Amino acid sequence: MRIFDPHIHMTSRTTDDYERMAAAGVRAVVEPAFWLGQPRTSAASFTDYFDSLIGWEPFRAGQFGVRHFATIALNPKEANDPRCRPVLDLLPRYLDKDAVVAVGEIGYDSMTPEEDEAFAAQLALAVAYDLPALVHTPHRDKARGCERTLAVVAESGIDAGRVVVDHLNEVTVKLVRESGCWLGFSIYPDTKMTPQRMVELLREYGTDRMLVNSAADWGRSDPLLTRATGEAMLAAGFSDDDVDRVLWRNPVEFYGQSGRLDLSDLEDPAAVDPQTGNSILRGGS
Ligand SMILES: [Zn+2]
Repeated sequence: MRIFDPHIHMTSRTTDDYERMAAAGVRAVVEPAFWLGQPRTSAASFTDYFDSLIGWEPFRAGQFGVRHFATIALNPKEANDPRCRPVLDLLPRYLDKDAVVAVGEIGYDSMTPEEDEAFAAQLALAVAYDLPALVHTPHRDKARGCERTLAVVAESGIDAGRVVVDHLNEVTVKLVRESGCWLGFSIYPDTKMTPQRMVELLREYGTDRMLVNSAADWGRSDPLLTRATGEAMLAAGFSDDDVDRVLWRNPVEFYGQSGRLDLSDLEDPAAVDPQTGNSILRGGS
Protein backbone atom coordinates (compact mmCIF):
# COMPACT_ATOMS: atom_id res chain seq x y z
CA MET A 1 0.00 0.00 0.00
CA ARG A 2 1.55 3.34 -1.02
CA ILE A 3 0.36 6.29 1.02
CA PHE A 4 0.53 10.05 0.55
CA ASP A 5 -0.63 11.86 3.71
CA PRO A 6 -1.96 15.17 2.36
CA HIS A 7 -2.15 16.88 5.78
CA ILE A 8 0.19 16.13 8.68
CA HIS A 9 2.22 18.35 11.03
CA MET A 10 5.52 16.49 11.19
CA THR A 11 7.23 19.33 13.07
CA SER A 12 5.28 18.09 16.10
CA ARG A 13 6.20 14.43 15.60
CA THR A 14 9.22 12.31 16.44
CA THR A 15 11.59 10.18 14.40
CA ASP A 16 9.74 7.11 15.73
CA ASP A 17 6.71 8.38 13.80
CA TYR A 18 8.72 8.77 10.59
CA GLU A 19 10.03 5.23 11.02
CA ARG A 20 6.60 3.73 11.61
CA MET A 21 5.06 5.76 8.77
CA ALA A 22 7.72 4.65 6.29
CA ALA A 23 7.22 1.02 7.37
CA ALA A 24 3.44 1.40 6.89
CA GLY A 25 3.85 2.65 3.30
CA VAL A 26 3.82 6.44 3.74
CA ARG A 27 6.11 7.74 1.00
CA ALA A 28 5.11 11.38 0.78
CA VAL A 29 3.50 13.99 3.03
CA VAL A 30 2.25 17.56 2.85
CA GLU A 31 2.78 19.64 5.98
CA PRO A 32 0.53 22.69 6.19
CA ALA A 33 1.62 25.72 8.18
CA PHE A 34 -0.59 26.01 11.27
CA TRP A 35 -0.99 27.18 14.83
CA LEU A 36 1.68 25.84 17.19
CA GLY A 37 -0.50 25.83 20.30
CA GLN A 38 1.64 28.53 21.92
CA PRO A 39 0.61 31.86 20.38
CA ARG A 40 3.35 33.58 18.41
CA THR A 41 4.15 37.13 19.40
CA SER A 42 5.60 38.46 16.16
CA ALA A 43 5.78 37.86 12.42
CA ALA A 44 9.49 37.03 12.70
CA SER A 45 8.56 33.86 14.52
CA PHE A 46 6.68 32.72 11.39
CA THR A 47 9.76 33.30 9.23
CA ASP A 48 11.72 30.72 11.21
CA TYR A 49 8.78 28.31 11.15
CA PHE A 50 8.24 28.64 7.38
CA ASP A 51 11.97 28.20 6.78
CA SER A 52 11.97 24.99 8.77
CA LEU A 53 8.92 23.70 6.81
CA ILE A 54 10.84 24.02 3.54
CA GLY A 55 14.33 23.29 4.89
CA TRP A 56 14.88 21.24 8.01
CA GLU A 57 11.70 19.16 7.95
CA PRO A 58 12.12 17.88 4.34
CA PHE A 59 15.69 16.94 5.28
CA ARG A 60 14.47 15.07 8.37
CA ALA A 61 11.77 13.28 6.34
CA GLY A 62 14.31 12.37 3.65
CA GLN A 63 16.33 10.38 6.19
CA PHE A 64 13.39 7.99 6.38
CA GLY A 65 12.72 7.91 2.65
CA VAL A 66 9.63 10.14 2.98
CA ARG A 67 9.16 13.02 0.49
CA HIS A 68 8.04 16.19 2.27
CA PHE A 69 6.17 19.19 0.83
CA ALA A 70 4.60 22.19 2.57
CA THR A 71 1.71 24.60 2.30
CA ILE A 72 2.26 28.13 3.60
CA ALA A 73 -0.22 30.61 5.10
CA LEU A 74 -1.28 32.63 8.09
CA ASN A 75 -3.51 30.13 9.95
CA PRO A 76 -7.13 31.09 10.79
CA LYS A 77 -6.60 31.20 14.54
CA GLU A 78 -3.68 33.64 14.46
CA ALA A 79 -5.35 35.76 11.79
CA ASN A 80 -7.13 37.29 14.80
CA ASP A 81 -3.91 38.50 16.44
CA PRO A 82 -2.80 41.94 15.17
CA ARG A 83 0.81 41.02 16.03
CA CYS A 84 0.67 38.23 13.42
CA ARG A 85 -1.07 40.05 10.57
CA PRO A 86 2.19 41.30 8.98
CA VAL A 87 2.78 37.64 8.05
CA LEU A 88 0.50 38.26 5.08
CA ASP A 89 3.26 40.43 3.57
CA LEU A 90 5.84 37.66 4.05
CA LEU A 91 3.84 35.03 2.17
CA PRO A 92 4.75 35.93 -1.44
CA ARG A 93 8.41 35.14 -0.76
CA TYR A 94 7.45 31.60 0.28
CA LEU A 95 4.77 30.97 -2.33
CA ASP A 96 7.51 31.14 -4.97
CA LYS A 97 9.43 28.20 -3.47
CA ASP A 98 9.49 24.79 -5.14
CA ALA A 99 8.73 22.91 -1.90
CA VAL A 100 5.46 24.84 -1.45
CA VAL A 101 2.56 23.08 -3.18
CA ALA A 102 -0.43 25.13 -1.93
CA VAL A 103 -1.61 28.08 0.14
CA GLY A 104 -2.82 26.78 3.52
CA GLU A 105 -4.17 26.20 6.05
CA ILE A 106 -6.51 29.09 5.53
CA GLY A 107 -10.21 29.41 6.39
CA TYR A 108 -12.18 29.90 9.57
CA ASP A 109 -11.64 29.22 13.24
CA SER A 110 -14.18 31.46 15.03
CA MET A 111 -15.54 33.21 11.91
CA THR A 112 -14.50 36.74 12.90
CA PRO A 113 -14.21 39.71 10.50
CA GLU A 114 -10.41 39.44 10.83
CA GLU A 115 -10.59 35.83 9.66
CA ASP A 116 -12.83 36.88 6.75
CA GLU A 117 -10.22 39.33 5.61
CA ALA A 118 -7.20 37.00 5.94
CA PHE A 119 -9.09 34.17 4.23
CA ALA A 120 -10.09 36.27 1.21
CA ALA A 121 -6.62 37.84 0.93
CA GLN A 122 -4.97 34.41 0.92
CA LEU A 123 -7.37 32.93 -1.63
CA ALA A 124 -6.39 35.89 -3.83
CA LEU A 125 -2.73 34.91 -3.30
CA ALA A 126 -3.51 31.34 -4.37
CA VAL A 127 -5.00 32.71 -7.60
CA ALA A 128 -2.09 35.11 -8.14
CA TYR A 129 0.54 32.40 -7.58
CA ASP A 130 -1.43 29.76 -9.47
CA LEU A 131 -1.45 27.43 -6.47
CA PRO A 132 -4.13 25.17 -4.97
CA ALA A 133 -5.58 26.11 -1.58
CA LEU A 134 -6.01 24.01 1.58
CA VAL A 135 -8.98 25.24 3.58
CA HIS A 136 -9.50 24.32 7.23
CA THR A 137 -13.11 24.23 8.49
CA PRO A 138 -14.03 25.16 12.06
CA HIS A 139 -14.54 22.43 14.63
CA ARG A 140 -17.49 24.23 16.23
CA ASP A 141 -20.67 25.07 14.34
CA LYS A 142 -19.49 22.96 11.40
CA ALA A 143 -22.42 23.29 9.02
CA ARG A 144 -22.56 27.08 9.19
CA GLY A 145 -18.76 27.33 9.02
CA CYS A 146 -18.72 25.15 5.95
CA GLU A 147 -21.45 27.10 4.17
CA ARG A 148 -19.68 30.36 4.76
CA THR A 149 -16.36 28.83 3.68
CA LEU A 150 -17.83 27.73 0.37
CA ALA A 151 -19.37 31.16 -0.19
CA VAL A 152 -16.00 32.88 0.31
CA VAL A 153 -14.29 30.35 -1.99
CA ALA A 154 -16.90 30.96 -4.71
CA GLU A 155 -16.56 34.72 -4.35
CA SER A 156 -12.77 34.60 -4.67
CA GLY A 157 -12.94 33.34 -8.25
CA ILE A 158 -10.55 30.43 -7.60
CA ASP A 159 -11.41 27.26 -9.55
CA ALA A 160 -13.24 24.92 -7.14
CA GLY A 161 -11.13 22.02 -8.46
CA ARG A 162 -8.07 23.70 -6.97
CA VAL A 163 -9.49 23.91 -3.44
CA VAL A 164 -9.65 21.21 -0.78
CA VAL A 165 -12.06 21.82 2.09
CA ASP A 166 -10.71 19.85 5.03
CA HIS A 167 -11.86 18.28 8.32
CA LEU A 168 -15.20 17.25 6.86
CA ASN A 169 -17.63 14.77 8.37
CA GLU A 170 -21.13 13.38 7.75
CA VAL A 171 -22.65 16.82 8.37
CA THR A 172 -20.56 18.75 5.83
CA VAL A 173 -19.68 16.19 3.14
CA LYS A 174 -22.71 16.78 0.92
CA LEU A 175 -22.37 20.56 0.77
CA VAL A 176 -18.73 20.34 -0.31
CA ARG A 177 -19.41 17.53 -2.76
CA GLU A 178 -21.87 19.76 -4.59
CA SER A 179 -19.46 22.71 -4.66
CA GLY A 180 -16.91 20.99 -6.93
CA CYS A 181 -14.15 21.39 -4.32
CA TRP A 182 -12.03 18.47 -3.14
CA LEU A 183 -13.03 16.83 0.14
CA GLY A 184 -10.55 16.35 2.98
CA PHE A 185 -11.17 14.04 5.94
CA SER A 186 -8.99 13.94 9.05
CA ILE A 187 -9.02 10.53 10.72
CA TYR A 188 -8.49 10.92 14.45
CA PRO A 189 -8.30 8.47 17.35
CA ASP A 190 -11.30 9.85 19.23
CA THR A 191 -12.67 12.97 17.56
CA LYS A 192 -13.37 13.96 13.93
CA MET A 193 -13.60 10.85 11.68
CA THR A 194 -12.76 7.18 12.31
CA PRO A 195 -11.60 4.70 9.61
CA GLN A 196 -14.97 2.97 9.78
CA ARG A 197 -17.00 6.14 9.32
CA MET A 198 -14.69 7.10 6.45
CA VAL A 199 -15.39 3.79 4.72
CA GLU A 200 -19.13 4.51 4.98
CA LEU A 201 -18.66 7.91 3.32
CA LEU A 202 -16.55 6.40 0.54
CA ARG A 203 -19.33 3.87 -0.05
CA GLU A 204 -21.93 6.58 -0.26
CA TYR A 205 -20.02 9.26 -2.18
CA GLY A 206 -17.38 7.28 -4.14
CA THR A 207 -13.62 7.86 -4.30
CA ASP A 208 -13.54 10.84 -6.65
CA ARG A 209 -11.98 14.03 -5.14
CA MET A 210 -11.73 12.34 -1.72
CA LEU A 211 -8.59 12.93 0.38
CA VAL A 212 -7.84 11.10 3.63
CA ASN A 213 -5.30 12.51 6.08
CA SER A 214 -4.16 11.91 9.65
CA ALA A 215 -3.79 15.64 10.45
CA ALA A 216 -1.44 14.37 13.16
CA ASP A 217 -0.05 17.24 15.21
CA TRP A 218 0.82 18.10 18.83
CA GLY A 219 -2.52 16.82 20.10
CA ARG A 220 -3.68 13.25 20.52
CA SER A 221 -3.50 11.93 16.96
CA ASP A 222 -2.04 9.03 15.00
CA PRO A 223 0.01 9.23 11.77
CA LEU A 224 -0.91 5.62 10.92
CA LEU A 225 -4.65 6.22 10.62
CA THR A 226 -4.24 6.69 6.86
CA ARG A 227 -3.01 3.11 6.67
CA ALA A 228 -5.80 1.96 9.03
CA THR A 229 -8.33 3.55 6.66
CA GLY A 230 -6.81 1.69 3.70
CA GLU A 231 -7.09 -1.57 5.66
CA ALA A 232 -10.69 -0.80 6.61
CA MET A 233 -11.50 -0.12 2.93
CA LEU A 234 -10.05 -3.50 1.89
CA ALA A 235 -11.93 -5.28 4.68
CA ALA A 236 -15.15 -3.63 3.45
CA GLY A 237 -14.63 -4.95 -0.09
CA PHE A 238 -12.93 -1.99 -1.81
CA SER A 239 -10.20 -3.03 -4.27
CA ASP A 240 -6.46 -2.35 -4.04
CA ASP A 241 -6.99 0.10 -6.89
CA ASP A 242 -9.64 2.03 -4.90
CA VAL A 243 -7.27 2.26 -1.95
CA ASP A 244 -4.43 3.43 -4.20
CA ARG A 245 -6.70 6.05 -5.69
CA VAL A 246 -7.74 7.49 -2.32
CA LEU A 247 -4.42 7.19 -0.51
CA TRP A 248 -2.04 7.97 -3.36
CA ARG A 249 -3.39 9.09 -6.73
CA ASN A 250 -5.93 11.59 -5.38
CA PRO A 251 -3.44 13.61 -3.29
CA VAL A 252 -0.93 13.41 -6.15
CA GLU A 253 -3.56 14.78 -8.54
CA PHE A 254 -4.66 17.54 -6.17
CA TYR A 255 -1.23 18.87 -5.20
CA GLY A 256 0.12 18.08 -8.68
CA GLN A 257 -1.88 21.11 -9.80
CA SER A 258 0.89 23.23 -8.28
CA GLY A 259 3.28 21.97 -11.00
CA ARG A 260 5.79 21.42 -8.19
CA LEU A 261 5.08 17.91 -6.98
CA ASP A 262 8.30 16.19 -7.91
CA LEU A 263 7.90 12.50 -7.05
CA SER A 264 10.56 11.18 -9.40
CA ASP A 265 12.04 7.89 -8.13
CA LEU A 266 8.95 7.37 -5.92
CA GLU A 267 6.46 6.95 -8.75
CA ASP A 268 6.16 3.97 -11.03
CA PRO A 269 8.95 4.36 -13.68
CA ALA A 270 6.26 3.78 -16.33
CA ALA A 271 4.74 7.13 -15.29
CA VAL A 272 7.82 9.00 -16.45
CA ASP A 273 7.43 10.64 -19.85
CA PRO A 274 9.85 8.69 -22.09
CA GLN A 275 10.38 11.75 -24.34
CA THR A 276 11.41 14.22 -21.69
CA GLY A 277 12.21 11.98 -18.73
CA ASN A 278 10.05 14.44 -16.82
CA SER A 279 8.11 12.93 -13.94
CA ILE A 280 6.99 16.17 -12.31
CA LEU A 281 3.28 15.71 -12.05
CA ARG A 282 1.23 18.54 -13.35
CA GLY A 283 -1.93 16.84 -12.24
CA GLY A 284 -5.52 17.27 -13.26
CA SER A 285 -6.62 16.74 -16.80
ZN1 LIG B 1 -3.77 20.89 10.37
